Amino acid sequence: MHPATRAVSCWVLSAAAGAASAGWAFAAAPIDMASVRAAAGPAVCRIVPETSWGIPAAFATGFVLGDGRFVVTDLGSVGRPGVVLAMLTFQDGSKAAAREFGMADPAVGVALLRLPETGPKRAGLSLAAALPALDGTATVAAAGWQWGSQLEFVTGRLWKGPAIREFAALAHVEPPAGADVFVRMDGGRMEGGPGSPVLDASGTVLAMGFELVVRDTVAPLGRPATALRGALLSAQPQLRPLAELPKPLWSTRVLRMPGPPAATADLAGAVNRFKAALTCQMCKGTGQVVAPWRGGGIISQFFDAKIPCPDCRGELAVISEGALKTLVSLAEQGTRTVWAPGGDDRARASARAAATEMLRSVTGYGPHFRGDLARLVGAALNTGTVPMPCGIVCQAQLSGTADGPDGRYIFLSPWRSQATLAVRAEDLAAPGYKTGVRREPPPDSWIVLVGAVLSRFKGESREGFYVLPCEWLPYSPPPQPDPDDRRPPFDFRRRGQNP
Ligand SMILES: [Zn+2]
Repeated sequence: MHPATRAVSCWVLSAAAGAASAGWAFAAAPIDMASVRAAAGPAVCRIVPETSWGIPAAFATGFVLGDGRFVVTDLGSVGRPGVVLAMLTFQDGSKAAAREFGMADPAVGVALLRLPETGPKRAGLSLAAALPALDGTATVAAAGWQWGSQLEFVTGRLWKGPAIREFAALAHVEPPAGADVFVRMDGGRMEGGPGSPVLDASGTVLAMGFELVVRDTVAPLGRPATALRGALLSAQPQLRPLAELPKPLWSTRVLRMPGPPAATADLAGAVNRFKAALTCQMCKGTGQVVAPWRGGGIISQFFDAKIPCPDCRGELAVISEGALKTLVSLAEQGTRTVWAPGGDDRARASARAAATEMLRSVTGYGPHFRGDLARLVGAALNTGTVPMPCGIVCQAQLSGTADGPDGRYIFLSPWRSQATLAVRAEDLAAPGYKTGVRREPPPDSWIVLVGAVLSRFKGESREGFYVLPCEWLPYSPPPQPDPDDRRPPFDFRRRGQNP
């Protein structure tokens, strides 16, 4: 038995007592958002479960319960392979690391994380003992870390959702005790924040939001507070390490990268934007410039000559710090869109198409361009002060694999950098845009990759940056070991002059 194991049943009683006095006087009244925010805001937190390599497994929301010792959240987000701790961030910026859970119910899809005893005392929210009428008359608020990035409150009305029994039959699981139907909320929508509490005017929790996946359809629903209470009261709570969290029975969507995805329209113009950003300004992307004859006099124009552009060296494109910023932000948006939960397939396809186009361009330009890009990306990685998440466009060679806490990882050595990148093999082999089939790149091969750096990682043998990939292509032929980039710049002033 875990040494920290102890009876924690009294918190259930205190949560229940708080709820019993809450009452339902609010029905149909407009909700005062300022007071809900004041009552519930300090108790709602962002939850980032991390694996033993320090890699974020998901981004979710949770809320402090009852007497403040536990945080309730979505089991689908925290019960992920290899998770050993959950980083909690509150609206005042304070953080706490939860390493244990008191109970988890796979049928309801809820987990109770233990807040560290050493942290500040936090006031919790109560779970409602009964639900209001689920006919759209109750105005409610949802509080969540929208897209895993900031705390938002939205209002809507509470309706009866689908029968839990029907969904349970489709998913081949036992329906949980304590409720017959899921709830749903219309009006405002809390996106990318599984585990968000749905609250009444007093800040009492009526439900916990999640995105249910059944046969490729995604439904944003709420687990009623009555089902959550049922799960809490029926459990024998004892503290155990997060690694022992059970898997949820329901299939739910998780958010892998924080931030909202791009709209399809934004991605459509992305290809033109990055091509414009890379186009050499000196020759306007023609590769040639006119070198004026300096001999003087009226005949000089007859002796002007076209020469290869000295800035891009005839390669039509130049990578500057500014152009790199455009590339990086497009890579970040593309990756976010490919991994966004909720399933907009059109946006996903456009993101992959834009990323493929980006990769074709990068490998299509000449060796100086590619060398300069590698140097800039390599320099950013070498300093180790990359803001995260941060988009990346990189030319890299596969340099080994290892079994990580949540599957096999492929290590990449970016050209002109000492840094190591780690990508999950499963993510790299995700079905590609259009082709629908994807294999892993062969060992030691070179690839070009668009993705986003999400965190640092520290494995058994290597450490570096963890990358969530958006798209990649084989890199053929591989980059030159050292393209001629030390040639002195062309001096216009000397052309046509006597030595
Ligand atoms: Zn040029």
